[in-house]
Amino acid sequence: MAEELTLEQIQDFKGKYPKQLWYLFLVEMWERFCFYGMRGVLTIFMADKILGLSLSDKDANLKYGAIQAFVYAFTFIGGIFADKILGFKKSLLFGGLVMITGNIIIAISPQNFFYLGITLSIIGTGFFKPNISSMVGELYREDDTRRDAGFGLFYSGINIGALLGGAVCVYLGKSENFGWSYAFLAAAIVMIIGLITFVLTKKSLGPIGDSPLLHLNSTKRTTKEILVYAGALISIPLIFIMIKNTDYTDYFMYTIGPVAILYFLYEMLKEKDVKSQKKLIAAFVFILFSIIFWAFFEQSGGSLALFAQDNLHPNLLFFDIDPNIINNTSNSLFVIIFSPLLGLLWLAMAKKKIEPNTLIKFGIGFLFLAAAFYTFYYTRFFADADGKTSLNIFTLAYLIITFGELCLSPIGLSIMTKLSPKRLGGMMMGMWFLASAYGQYAAGLLGAGMSSPDGDASLLVKLQGYTDGYKQLAIYALIAGLALIIISPLIRKLMQEVK
Ligand code: GLN
Repeated sequence: MAEELTLEQIQDFKGKYPKQLWYLFLVEMWERFCFYGMRGVLTIFMADKILGLSLSDKDANLKYGAIQAFVYAFTFIGGIFADKILGFKKSLLFGGLVMITGNIIIAISPQNFFYLGITLSIIGTGFFKPNISSMVGELYREDDTRRDAGFGLFYSGINIGALLGGAVCVYLGKSENFGWSYAFLAAAIVMIIGLITFVLTKKSLGPIGDSPLLHLNSTKRTTKEILVYAGALISIPLIFIMIKNTDYTDYFMYTIGPVAILYFLYEMLKEKDVKSQKKLIAAFVFILFSIIFWAFFEQSGGSLALFAQDNLHPNLLFFDIDPNIINNTSNSLFVIIFSPLLGLLWLAMAKKKIEPNTLIKFGIGFLFLAAAFYTFYYTRFFADADGKTSLNIFTLAYLIITFGELCLSPIGLSIMTKLSPKRLGGMMMGMWFLASAYGQYAAGLLGAGMSSPDGDASLLVKLQGYTDGYKQLAIYALIAGLALIIISPLIRKLMQEVK
């Protein structure tokens, strides 16, 4: 049998990307297929009056938000258990298995087992999602300038999976020949493919992602691991109840954030080295800014979807196309195309020693976000008397927002791995995604604030309501970007040698 690779051998890779990155890329691609496939059918399934759960549109939307918030919030918990007991590899395997089980359970009888299955998906994603990103970070030496480019490529994989999953599962779910069971079954099957890919390639990761408890004897370690698995399974009824009653989502969201911050402070103070403490504070600032970013960005699933449905002409350049298809797919497509290209740009700039540091990238991300929302606002000047406006300008705004995302989201994953001490890697990545949970949550509130209270309002009135809101968001995004640039000297000090 081949010798296990050492960390040095892995991190000493030649070329642009380590080969292990491609494996993790594939595994994450399949996981995101499963996740976004499930997510894509969620609201329509819940609102389906005959074969679904027959919820009102409002309830389906609320529940959708709740499930999204829970999914991302559980990454924090999954990250902590990976750091303390399981290690990333075992977390990934456990999370993947739970996700597969969840989707299979729903596939057996979507109407009967939906909530149980979705509870498992939430727990499974919590154990899976943060920890695979943390492993990408460990492929790089601390000072390796190729890391951001690596995360850029990884991010393309995320979006290939998201795009395919969304398309295939929605197609299967809505098709008369197939139906909801097939959508969830497809999600389960691709997750199986993802997990098999991981099992077959995980040896190439050498010691990366091994349990932090390897020094303990194996009985002790196994007992602790079993306790984590059992704890996760015991929490099923609790999560199940919280998902079924959306009021609990609010309580949960009010609680998990403060608890996470207290726990973060506890771990930070436990850190003996002041330098590491400072880095953790810097990471926390990035996390806070990302909440604002996602709150705006995630209008895509809410207010922008309604805007696309009501206020856009169905023509893009020379084609007729449903604006909601553009709303759902253009971002992923742009990410797939531009993420590796931007990665190559970072690499080229790093070679010339002119690569902008993370703070500047984040700042630029917010400026793109502001420009994108200004463009969404600007669609009102192309509207006709019926309140319908240009899909071309709308798509342009998506292109711009994607550049913003690429300056923030993969870079955010990367900086979490740079600023976290090894023992807290999973938790910090989990906090990064917990910020997404809050972003999603706030996005719903912002979107609701923009929509016309009068359901029968004319399209022109709706257009005005939404575009006024987008202008406000543009201004706030600009302010956030400028604030970030203004405080950047301070944060740079906290980051020390980290770029
Ligand atoms: N689209 C990315 C993913 O699925 C980022 C999600 C997020 O952080 N909100 O991984």
